[in-house]
Amino acid sequence: MNTQNITITLSETKKEKPQSDQLEFGQVFTDHMFMMDYTEELGWHDPRIVPYQPITLDPASMIFHYGQSVFEGLKAYLTEDERILLFRPEKNFQRLNKSNDRLCIPEIDEELALTALKQLIETDREWIPTAEGTSLYIRPFVISTEPYLGVAPSGSYKFIMILSPVGSYYKEGIHPVKIAVETQFVRAVNGGTGTAKTGGNYASSLKAQEVSGKMGYSQVLWLDGVEKKYIEEVGSMNVFFKINGEIITPALNGSILQGVTRTSIIELLKYWNIPVTERRISMEEVRQAHKNGTLEEAFGTGTAAVISPIGEFFWQDEKLLINEGKTGELSKKLYDTLTGIQRGKLEDPLDWVVEVTKASSLSTVR
Ligand SMILES: *Cc1c(COP(=O)(O)O)cnc(C)c1O
Repeated sequence: MNTQNITITLSETKKEKPQSDQLEFGQVFTDHMFMMDYTEELGWHDPRIVPYQPITLDPASMIFHYGQSVFEGLKAYLTEDERILLFRPEKNFQRLNKSNDRLCIPEIDEELALTALKQLIETDREWIPTAEGTSLYIRPFVISTEPYLGVAPSGSYKFIMILSPVGSYYKEGIHPVKIAVETQFVRAVNGGTGTAKTGGNYASSLKAQEVSGKMGYSQVLWLDGVEKKYIEEVGSMNVFFKINGEIITPALNGSILQGVTRTSIIELLKYWNIPVTERRISMEEVRQAHKNGTLEEAFGTGTAAVISPIGEFFWQDEKLLINEGKTGELSKKLYDTLTGIQRGKLEDPLDWVVEVTKASSLSTVR
């Protein structure tokens, strides 16, 4: 695919931008969006940046019925010297294609997607918020659009990217959350769609979230779908433990989503020569570690919060308080390092950051 084919139609009006210190998550969107279509005849075609606008779909479009869709989530940051940085964006487009493959959606040219994203961000660069801790959240997604009620992969799709300026995840600094261990519902099973970023996984997670929310917990800890013994993820984040000096994260087992943050933390720990183990870990092992005083830290990892320390687990009528409910040393160090690299404040020793420059993509303005 010739990446120079991306066309731009600029918006005639500009929306009012929100105050950058009053931003929440995912509520306002920028002036433009990227869109590209797929048909069996033409393949992926007509990559274009257009004014942000509603899309019209036939009510029989397959996305409304059988949920054949995938998405991604990443962020762009504005540095103090006004450079725009992305964090390992190629990983997100690789994962998008892994998700596409699982959902029978045709592969997308990853290079084109990244070029288009840079172009879109460049077009809406005034929307990148500047206040401490804020960023521009990027949501690429694919929907199936063929009007057909038969159960089969759709013959047509739209790949869309939208941008949303978002506030600081931690308004009063990084702080631990309380987690209920989910014993009734499961998120994913081996052989299912847990390794793909697809809307259905989120739809099926809402019930557990609602129940635990009513109990005063902010997220659930997901156990494996077969024995409900082994730890998988926390909310929509990957999870890490520090037990007796060992850093442990559940091994990728066919139902865990491979987070870019998870991968980066493993690589960073190895770079620091801190031992990190990917293995099976049961909730019983965590309880035992708590009991004998070796459960030092637990935290979730994901693009939105980066690191989310866990202050308490609730499991089988028992409350396990971790590190007196305070943020652990390692959690804090990982948070400071990752956010420092992402925002261009710290050196980038593993070459993760990608800069968006005017020259990083060529296109024709229509
Ligand atoms: C997106 C996601 C994550 C985190 O992935 P990152 O790439 O680190 O943002 C973890 N678990 C689930 C289920 C997810 O959907």
